[in-house]
Amino acid sequence: MKAIVKTKPEPGVELLDVDVPQVGETDILIKVSAGSLCGSDIHYYEWLPGSQFIRVPVILGHEFSGQVVEVGSLVENVQVGDRVSAMPSMPCCQCSNCRAGRGDSCSNRLVPGLLSDGFFAEYGRLTAGANIFKLPENVSYEAAALLEPFSVALNAVDLSDLKIGQKAAVLGPGPIGLFTLQILKAGGASLIMMAGTGADEKRLDLAEELGADVIVDVEKDDPAFKTLELTGQGLDMVFEATGNPKSVAQGLNMVKPGGKVVLIGIHPGLAEFDPTPMVRGRKTLIGAYAYDAQTWERALAVISSGQVNPEAVITHRLPLSQAEKGFQMAINKEAVKVLFMP
Ligand SMILES: [Zn+2]
Ligand SMILES: [Zn+2]
Repeated sequence: MKAIVKTKPEPGVELLDVDVPQVGETDILIKVSAGSLCGSDIHYYEWLPGSQFIRVPVILGHEFSGQVVEVGSLVENVQVGDRVSAMPSMPCCQCSNCRAGRGDSCSNRLVPGLLSDGFFAEYGRLTAGANIFKLPENVSYEAAALLEPFSVALNAVDLSDLKIGQKAAVLGPGPIGLFTLQILKAGGASLIMMAGTGADEKRLDLAEELGADVIVDVEKDDPAFKTLELTGQGLDMVFEATGNPKSVAQGLNMVKPGGKVVLIGIHPGLAEFDPTPMVRGRKTLIGAYAYDAQTWERALAVISSGQVNPEAVITHRLPLSQAEKGFQMAINKEAVKVLFMP
């Protein structure tokens, strides 16, 4: 089968012919319908600092959906034909801890697209211990391939304790920022500012379509000044989804006393900010990372209910053979979200 493989600890990926995964007694074989290109995949593609954690060679791709086509003899939780997505970290089901029913303490956890083969391929493998979500009929494979990043955004909004009527800003109109915007909108925020750079033009247009009340190009306008102009005292919350260390201080300047800054972006270096106004303003800085299975369940419910339309961020659907093009378009921001459709 064809697969997008990170073959070497250096920039780039390769399209290779590899074997279809073997299905052991606790394994589940998935025919992949859609694999979604994540910011972290781009990180590994470019071989930026932090990439040394991944096991090379590895098939990339942890955001996916597909159909169960084969199950091992001990698998009971899914059946051939089920339409599914799954959380991208799972117990191996083979080690002594797993065999003793302690999958939480698995000594050989599989992390598809990072420490084990992922889903930018025609087929991928799950284990029976994975958190697998069966898709309601009205949730498309394309939407389901976005469950992972959507859950990241949902977890971030959860941590902000959003209340209906509150005012918020999102820094960074990438897929996570745009999902955060959709969730804030569905959650009843009364004013949402989206801030980006000139290079984000297409993404900022999409943010406006998705309901952002105020769009700020940070190269032309200062979002903190704009915030004061609009609200008098500042916002209730700011979501930092750029990974630019400067935006931490910016976020702190934008929230009112008692406000919260939720950090979602992964930053390449140290961030500098003045702590005294933060102390005097009793402001809170929150780190938001990943999600739990309950977050995924709610993400699936909110997508299925039609309250949000995550597919709106998909701009490109490409075959695996156009891997290079997909990565390049995501890097130069021509694309918002790229799906590989094997
Ligand atoms: Zn991801
Ligand atoms: Zn194990």
